[in-house]
Amino acid sequence: MGATKDQLTQAARAVPHPDGGALGDGVVNIAACDGVISACVSLGETAGQKQRHATGERLIHDLINTSREHGQDVETCTIEFVDHDGDVIDRVVAGKKEQAGPPQDVPAAPKGDSLPGVKHIIAVGAGKGGVGKSTVAVNVAVGLARKGHAVGLLDGDIYGPSLPTMLGLDALDQQAIEGRLQPFYVHGVKAVTMGKLVEPDKPLIWRGPMAHGAFNQLTARTDWGELDYLIIDLPPGTGDVPLTMAQSLSLAGAVIVCTPQKVAQDDASRAAKMFAQLGVDVLGVVENMSFFIGDDGKEYDLFGRGGAQKMAQRLGLPFLGSIPINTALRQNGDSGDPVKNFEPEHAGGESLPRALEGVVTQLESQVALATMGKSRPTLSIS
Ligand code: ADP
Repeated sequence: MGATKDQLTQAARAVPHPDGGALGDGVVNIAACDGVISACVSLGETAGQKQRHATGERLIHDLINTSREHGQDVETCTIEFVDHDGDVIDRVVAGKKEQAGPPQDVPAAPKGDSLPGVKHIIAVGAGKGGVGKSTVAVNVAVGLARKGHAVGLLDGDIYGPSLPTMLGLDALDQQAIEGRLQPFYVHGVKAVTMGKLVEPDKPLIWRGPMAHGAFNQLTARTDWGELDYLIIDLPPGTGDVPLTMAQSLSLAGAVIVCTPQKVAQDDASRAAKMFAQLGVDVLGVVENMSFFIGDDGKEYDLFGRGGAQKMAQRLGLPFLGSIPINTALRQNGDSGDPVKNFEPEHAGGESLPRALEGVVTQLESQVALATMGKSRPTLSIS
């Protein structure tokens, strides 16, 4: 079974602080899964390297003991020390001292073999936060499931997971069997999120190897079963997670979500370049918050409708469709009820369901094209 996060947090908080007393709230975050423990700790400004390492080793000792007491051996235990900005200043790994440094490469699972029952893996990314990336990921997953596909949804946004809210997972507990995460089956979709493995209101600070490890645990140590599509909601921007993903998974491609404004386009084209550098095909661009439909039924162009579509054209990327600004979409997201977005009576009319279904259909076509491209037979004439 292993110790729960609360039990590990309690053990960590009781470890002595170098300035006296216990670490208490200096324990910023703890995550544990299947014998891998990661803790993020702030000792304040006064502690030096020697004190950090002594505290790290004591923490590792106590966390390993707590885990063992609950029947789980520990493979790796990483303690990261952060400053008040959340930057990692030092790291102690399983009793071995390491200086904080650039992210190290974690050996990646062999591509293609990592998720054997999954046919198509699609990442949903965005150049910046708040453009509706998670909303698109959730609704694409639900839309594909409504068309009869077996769909998984992975909340790869390990820094700010939205799925617990958007899928209404708050009252549900994460289950694991023999160290493997059992996805939640909700709204016709199998879902896993870091948000159900960590305390909801704690800042999630992952750097370098921790981010690699956290992402790999969520993908490879989940019992996905057979899936037609696995949708991965990436963190915004161009950080550690897309790199880990591209190293460890064989993707059908990525979807880029962008709002119409110029500043959003600039960030989205950076995301497109990142995917190109990582060797991940871009399946298409979704223009979110494209326009607003008022109560009078008129369409209002708030942000420069068509901007993301033009950007897609400029970059030679397929365009998957536009999603309007829609109050029901936000409300159904906040209440964890995404299926309602596909029901005109709960979606403020026909336009939202039509837009979402259009994006899903375009995406299916692009995946089919990408798959054909990859498995296209070559004809040799002699
Ligand atoms: P991101 O993942 O890019 O940070 P989210 O998907 O979390 O963005 O969306 C941010 C907020 O905007 C959420 O409250 C979501 O419900 C809302 N939202 C996203 N797209 C729309 C839309 N088209 N109309 C109305 N609200 C939207």
